[in-house]
Amino acid sequence: MDIEAPEEAKELPKIQRLDESVVNRIAAGEVIQRPVSAVKELVENSLDASSTSISVVVKDGGLKLIQVSDDGHGIRHEDLPILCERHTTSKLSKYEDLQSIKSMGFRGEALASMTYVGHVTVTTITKGQLHGYRVSYRDGMMEHEPKACAAVKGTQIMVENLFYNMIARRKTLQNSADDYTKIVDVLSRFAIHHIDVSFSCRKHGAARADVHSVATSSRLDAIRSVYGLSVARNLIKIEASDNDPSRSVFEMDGFISNSNYVVKKTTMVLFINDRLVECTALKRALEIVYSATLPKASKPFIYMSIILPPEHVDVNVHPTKREVSLLNQEVIIEKIQSLVESMLRNSNDSRTFQEQTVESSPSVPSITNNESHLNPSPSGSKSQKVPVHKMVRTDSSDPAGRLHAYLYKKPQNHLEMNSSLTAVRSSVRQRRNLKETADLTSVQELIDVIDSKCHSGLLDIVRQCTYVGMADDVFALLQHNTHLYLANVVNLSKELMYQQVLRRFAHFNAIQLSESAPLQELIMLALKEEELDLEGNENDDLKMKIAEMNTQLLKQKAEMLEEYFCIFIDSDGNLSRLPILLDQYTPDMDRVPEFLLCLGNDVDWEDEKNCFQSLAAALGNFYAMHPPLLPNPSGEGLEFYRKRKHGKNPQDAGKSSCDIGDDIEIEDEFEHELLSEAETVWGQRDWSIQHVLFPSMRLFLKPPTSMAVNGTFVRVASLEKLYKIFERC
Ligand code: ADP
Ligand code: MG
Repeated sequence: MDIEAPEEAKELPKIQRLDESVVNRIAAGEVIQRPVSAVKELVENSLDASSTSISVVVKDGGLKLIQVSDDGHGIRHEDLPILCERHTTSKLSKYEDLQSIKSMGFRGEALASMTYVGHVTVTTITKGQLHGYRVSYRDGMMEHEPKACAAVKGTQIMVENLFYNMIARRKTLQNSADDYTKIVDVLSRFAIHHIDVSFSCRKHGAARADVHSVATSSRLDAIRSVYGLSVARNLIKIEASDNDPSRSVFEMDGFISNSNYVVKKTTMVLFINDRLVECTALKRALEIVYSATLPKASKPFIYMSIILPPEHVDVNVHPTKREVSLLNQEVIIEKIQSLVESMLRNSNDSRTFQEQTVESSPSVPSITNNESHLNPSPSGSKSQKVPVHKMVRTDSSDPAGRLHAYLYKKPQNHLEMNSSLTAVRSSVRQRRNLKETADLTSVQELIDVIDSKCHSGLLDIVRQCTYVGMADDVFALLQHNTHLYLANVVNLSKELMYQQVLRRFAHFNAIQLSESAPLQELIMLALKEEELDLEGNENDDLKMKIAEMNTQLLKQKAEMLEEYFCIFIDSDGNLSRLPILLDQYTPDMDRVPEFLLCLGNDVDWEDEKNCFQSLAAALGNFYAMHPPLLPNPSGEGLEFYRKRKHGKNPQDAGKSSCDIGDDIEIEDEFEHELLSEAETVWGQRDWSIQHVLFPSMRLFLKPPTSMAVNGTFVRVASLEKLYKIFERC
């Protein structure tokens, strides 16, 4: 393949065909990114070969040696010469086969790749043979004829000195944390999915295996033996399916952790059509449910196997086949998400009721732990559930104490026994500090107002809609059934945040500011902003006074702000903590000054209920997904970033500047730093709208009736009509 490009145009860069070995090495580096990718490919080959036992030995995090032995069907002697050439496979012969591919491999690239970046030796024996063969490969080719050797059933593949010819990669891998943990992790995942196969994984020379599973018929047993008892005993079985081709067709089963399982990191083991894959969207959707439904900011353990018709999965979207794309992905995710949510809620509730007969412990827990995290979901159901946010949690670090959180005292106020729902609610309330009962009543009344004002039609839209994209800086385009709507994301997010403040009342996790912010200066800043166009410089003194008074006021209220709203103000008047209203979302910090001013000016500090209501509204406004203060660079706002010469306005850019004689060049330069900052903030906002706001709205928002008439939702078209218009064109 060494074709020389014609010798012309000496000065211009010459396009040359790369040497094939270079091409192969580059491609190999993509398929085998690190030792763990080689292990995954080798184990998948063993699984494709119907093995029932697979063992892995690793030396030096896989850089020195990876050895995978199986008891599968082996490799035919006559296939050995081309075994490690690129694009040789026994699993696919024509492109159409990809549509129905069941094996994990199909590209015929993995083994070849390993021979370009390491030394590969294969020992194999097929059924009915008296002896096996051993052969080594380099750069896709056999180094010698296969040698007869003694062998046990199956295949053993050894990869030595991985990346010996990619010095930079070898160095980074050597310096990075051991790949061995990653290898153990991948094998653990395989082991709990392929429960009819036994797996083991150990370091070279070690007597003990770090993964050791035996074939079993019980998935739970497999999980117990690989991930331990503490995981296995806190799992709930989950199953779902759909078989409506207009919506989605899938079957899912798995195990998810319950509320007793408290860890800081998500483990999500996902197999789609028996492939170990990742699906960030699904993972995130489930994390949101956990953080919202369960008391502590606990992350889940999830094992899930999803089976779809093979033609609905595109397995060929990623070189290492790590990610797949699915038909109707959004519908499937939504279905799974709501199922997980209801299961978690039920598991919480059943616990509440199980424990009802038990007298609660005499010590009434008070909420002192700021880290205790409680996110309610608006249940939206009519059943007699105790809303999650009505339950009281004790110390998050005390697992035993967590059970008490769900105990409840017998109602003491007989008036409240009329309705069992109120009874349960109020009894839970009783468990709080008695002093706080009144506080809760006012918050409960505010939540009741939200519930009673909920517009059922809008609720349906919010729950069922598909997010299409942003139509402009404020309106998102949504599709619901056959209608398109424009929805004002600022109004929606403001309302959602407001409702979240009340539902999570006194149970927020904290956002810690990297530097604490002096209230007085910030309020001063906000006051100046307000009067920017009024040229009000002369009343600076007045502003100072206002800033000082507001700071004093907030300092006085600090205890309450901290306890109920997780807004932490220290005795020097510095703000250092804010509440998390939605997981994965922090508000725009540019809006802190405005918020602080609003706390001073707009909050009613006299009446308790009004106070909570106006504080929630202030927080709602602060956390809402306003357009960022920097203009949107992807629209007309781009003009703003054109380089301004010598303090001229943006409009002057491009015109000649007459202040400095020489400098009259036409400027078409941009303020790159500012531009990229703007791109980042706008990009982040778009991401949050799609991945945080809409999924959370689906779960939590009770849209008020006012939104039907105040322009928050506008129906723009019905698809039927649009189709008719398009047909005419
Ligand atoms: P792919 O798995 O995409 O086909 P690979 O490069 O991983 O490509 O493997 C090439 C071929 O080698 C496979 O198609 C299979 O026939 C054979 N093979 C690899 N490993 C094994 C094994 N452990 N047992 C049996 N056959 C194997
Ligand atoms: Mg393979």
